[in-house]
Amino acid sequence: MLTFDEYQQRVLASARPLPAERRPVAEVANLLGLVTAEPVHSSVSLPGFTNSAMDGYAVWSADLRGATPDTPVVLPVAGDIPAGDTRSLELAPGSCWRIMTGAPLPTGADAVVQVELTDGGLEEVRLREAVPAGTALRHRGEDVQPGDEVLPAGTRLQPRHVPVLLSSGVGEISVFPRPRVAIVSTGDELVAPGEPAGHGQVVDSNGPMLGALARECGFDVAAVCRSGDSPEALLATVQELTGAADLIVTSGGVSAGAFEPVKLAFTGSDDFEFVQVAMQPGKPQGFGTVSGTPVFALPGNPVSSLVSFLLLVAPAARVLAGRDPEVPTVEAAVAEHWTSPPGRQQFARVVFDEDGRMVRPIGGQGSHVLGGLAGSQALAIVPAGTTEVAVGETLRVIPLDGLA
Ligand code: AMP
Ligand code: MG
Repeated sequence: MLTFDEYQQRVLASARPLPAERRPVAEVANLLGLVTAEPVHSSVSLPGFTNSAMDGYAVWSADLRGATPDTPVVLPVAGDIPAGDTRSLELAPGSCWRIMTGAPLPTGADAVVQVELTDGGLEEVRLREAVPAGTALRHRGEDVQPGDEVLPAGTRLQPRHVPVLLSSGVGEISVFPRPRVAIVSTGDELVAPGEPAGHGQVVDSNGPMLGALARECGFDVAAVCRSGDSPEALLATVQELTGAADLIVTSGGVSAGAFEPVKLAFTGSDDFEFVQVAMQPGKPQGFGTVSGTPVFALPGNPVSSLVSFLLLVAPAARVLAGRDPEVPTVEAAVAEHWTSPPGRQQFARVVFDEDGRMVRPIGGQGSHVLGGLAGSQALAIVPAGTTEVAVGETLRVIPLDGLA
């Protein structure tokens, strides 16, 4: 039997990021969540031109010397400069332009007087305060200079990265693609979702659940399909999927029963191993490659499948995506005692107390208990050496909401 950590390291050992792709920044909505494979450098200055930070009047500051509310300076207004004005304008000494936020500063102006310090005049304006040169200006290049690195390699693109990415004059960026994950549920007992399960049958809930987990973790779902208990049919399905997926997940058919199609299909292959892992749930596990594509053979009980996906498949798929494999956890204190099997690392379904700092177990911990799974909010990690989980003890827990 392998410890959980040993097995996790084993399945991660050969994982490498997928080959990077160049993608147009114009499709940025589809790039969110992807990781940059190379740094992004700006080809332009930001701001691209010196512009007004306020609605007001573009002036030569020396013209306003001595202006006060009682002795305002009155200047003729040459016209309006709205945002988006592409003219190259000049300021004649002793005059001003009415200017809007983001509009280009006319040559010769060195400050903007905000409209609140004026009477807002259109033909001529009374300016009630002297302002120093540089007031209310955004200077060309003060934010970003041409050649500046605006996003380092390894950035996972989030909405906050969009403005600089789209504004830096870059047409394409290099990113690691989203891993395409294919799911195959096995078992002659399975019926398609939406169909009634007769005596001896169950609805295939693992396939859609694993597909949903893959999507929520930020991967593409290449296929969700079912195979019965024929090892030949399973092998053919997996081989076909290697052309469409970067990672394949099977569920069921890996334990010690008589009809274990995944085990039968891959046992004896040099590129595959079936092991017992000291974890609960999820003890029987298989991992290997088929035509170079990693294949995770997960146990079929729904809870075991979910836990195995989050702790083994998702970390490996994150590496393919250029991301950190680590499973995010938080700390919580135990509010109610429970037991854990000797010698196995337990991933116990728990709920949080109201303040989110304490956890208590939920329902039966059996791997087939679907109601308890739905009601759980996190998986508490109980070390292999612990059999009595005591009140007040601190554990690391994996929140199940917001996996992305
Ligand atoms: P297995 O690992 O194939 O022995 O399956 C273990 C248990 O999980 C059995 O009770 C199966 O019926 C159930 N099971 C296996 N695959 C699925 C699935 N895709 N959806 C729901 N239950 C499943
Ligand atoms: Mg089965």
